[in-house]
Amino acid sequence: MPLLEGKKALIFGIANHRSIGWAIAQALAAEGAQLAFSYQERMEKYVRELAAKIPGTSVMECDVQSDEQLDKAFAQAAETFNDEIDILIHSVAFAPPRELENPFIETTREGFHTALDISAYSLVAMAKRAQPLMQAHGGSILTLTYMASERVMPKYNVMAVAKAALECSVRYLAFEMGEHNIRVNAISAGPLNTLAARGVSGFTSFREQMGSAAPLRRNIEQSEVGDAALFLSSHLARAITGEIMFVDAGYNIMGA
Ligand code: NAD
Repeated sequence: MPLLEGKKALIFGIANHRSIGWAIAQALAAEGAQLAFSYQERMEKYVRELAAKIPGTSVMECDVQSDEQLDKAFAQAAETFNDEIDILIHSVAFAPPRELENPFIETTREGFHTALDISAYSLVAMAKRAQPLMQAHGGSILTLTYMASERVMPKYNVMAVAKAALECSVRYLAFEMGEHNIRVNAISAGPLNTLAARGVSGFTSFREQMGSAAPLRRNIEQSEVGDAALFLSSHLARAITGEIMFVDAGYNIMGA
């Protein structure tokens, strides 16, 4: 039987065919999951095209900065999935471009707020809305983070602060939601060439550096994050929660 036969997955954060969220969607669908995608308005065309490639996939608009839109998206998902969700994928991040160009010390209050709101608070906001749809039978919530949360990656700036807040939120949510058998984890992915990554100056050099210094002597691909997400979302990972799992060809273990 496919690993995710009968499972229902709601995915936030697909922008185009390079998105990590899309790789995760393909991995989950290949193992039998039924999918719904939530998209940011300006991505609608691309997301509808991708959704059409996986029969039965629903789509719903949501800007994660709006509580009303989050309520609406979860209400639509509840209707689509008969009031039950098994898997929630949070693959969303944003910081205003100037905050990734200027020195970190120049971070504005507004930029800090926006980055933390979209990239970290949104996980908490989604978890709150997912809990009633998961608590009868348990579930899995998964987000995407980056190693800049713990080590300095020049120019990652306020996004690194947001990732640190996101990882801490994973642990607090994992603790509280564990009593409902809802697991909350993160994948810390190595650098991948996506729309979000292109906003970070020096991204290409991070990627080159990782490719030569990682134990596996190579970069990773989106599909490898998809496969790890499949594992974490499945019953194979039923005792894993609060975990930040690196999918980075081992780069994180290196000192020099
Ligand atoms: P992406 O640009 O394809 O995905 C980012 C998504 O966030 C987009 O779909 C965008 O529409 C969505 N988004 C941004 N603001 C939003 C808002 N206000 N409301 C709703 N959606 C919003 O890029 P990606 O690299 O696939 O990023 C997915 C996740 O993976 C992010 O959390 C990113 O930080 C993380 N990540 C990426 C890398 C990498 O190198 N690409 C590495 C580690 C972690």
